[in-house]
Amino acid sequence: MSETVLVTGATGFIAQHCILQLLEAGYQVRGTARAPGRGEEIATVLSAHLSDVARARLPQDFAVVAADLTSDAGWDDAVNGCRFVLHVASPFPPDSPKNEDELIIPARDGALRVLRAASSANVQRVVMTSSVAAIFYGRDRDHVFTEADWSNVQSRHIGAYEKSKTLAERAAWNYMDSLGNTSAMDLVVINPGLVLGPLLAKEWSLSGEAIKKIMERAVPAIPDIRVAPVDVRDVATAHVLAMTVAEASGQRFICAIESHAFRDIALILAEHLGSQGFKIPTGRLPNFVLPIVALWDKQVRLILSEVGQDLAIDSTKIKTVLGLKPRGLREMTEAMADSMIRYGVVSAKA
Ligand code: NAP
Repeated sequence: MSETVLVTGATGFIAQHCILQLLEAGYQVRGTARAPGRGEEIATVLSAHLSDVARARLPQDFAVVAADLTSDAGWDDAVNGCRFVLHVASPFPPDSPKNEDELIIPARDGALRVLRAASSANVQRVVMTSSVAAIFYGRDRDHVFTEADWSNVQSRHIGAYEKSKTLAERAAWNYMDSLGNTSAMDLVVINPGLVLGPLLAKEWSLSGEAIKKIMERAVPAIPDIRVAPVDVRDVATAHVLAMTVAEASGQRFICAIESHAFRDIALILAEHLGSQGFKIPTGRLPNFVLPIVALWDKQVRLILSEVGQDLAIDSTKIKTVLGLKPRGLREMTEAMADSMIRYGVVSAKA
């Protein structure tokens, strides 16, 4: 008998990679979207990336239902009959809102809506997409960060998005504690770093924005920022493994490779795309420049607290407990760049 998995935010970059892997593994997938009319569009994107067998089964194996994280409507029906839930949806906007509650409330209350509905429907396990945003922000970078660490939401150096991810994950674990032994449902949390890897269509998540800017030479040089990257295909595999690996129960997992300077990504792009006519900037942007640019550029404001910061993370747990074998920086960077050219996100050079 085929099992049904609910995937929230089926329009999203990570969610669609999860759905592809679930369909290939023979699961039935129900996705949620805020706009109910997007089912056909999502199915068209998935269809282009599925094997012949999974594509033929798409009409019976995949459906989209309407649900918004800011409303109770639709969640009970969405989880009904599902054995697993991948709760991936969360606001991930290109710039910080005037009021941080615009991100915090949907992220936190939306996670609680999904968990409450899942518990009432006797879902076996919820896998929630958190982020490294809930691990090392607003903290001194004086040690190697692990799953034992939490971002400090009281810090004045933490942004609205990082707060929303931290408070949503905290709320989810608190909710699970409140259930005690009254529910058989358990929770696993995946905390991805900066997600790179192939786009499936022309729409791209905010995580591709920096690659796009570098490819378009919209930045003159590369800021001194360290990131913990991961390939979207590995993030999806981690979610699928987290559904069924028994020992994962009640645990959070950093999902990233070792930290890299952003300039390492630019150097890979330069090597990969130079012969195609791209002039990739690889110089170092002096640290004093970014605060000035941030005065008018909201996206630069988002990364300001990261400039010149060290970053060391330990991601061995996801390899040992879930058995994930993550791809390296070159493969995920080249795949994202190639897909941006393929789908016309970045124009090919003549
Ligand atoms: P994405 O492509 O922008 O997807 C975000 C998804 O969340 C979209 O499906 C969006 O739906 C949905 N969403 C936003 N607000 C919602 C609301 N009020 N109600 C229902 N759905 C809502 O981003 P992504 O990169 O795939 O991110 C997915 C998850 O991974 C997020 O939780 C994000 O925080 C987390 N994450 C991402 C990265 C990364 O680098 N990409 C790293 C760590 C963690 P609409 O299409 O309707 O807007």
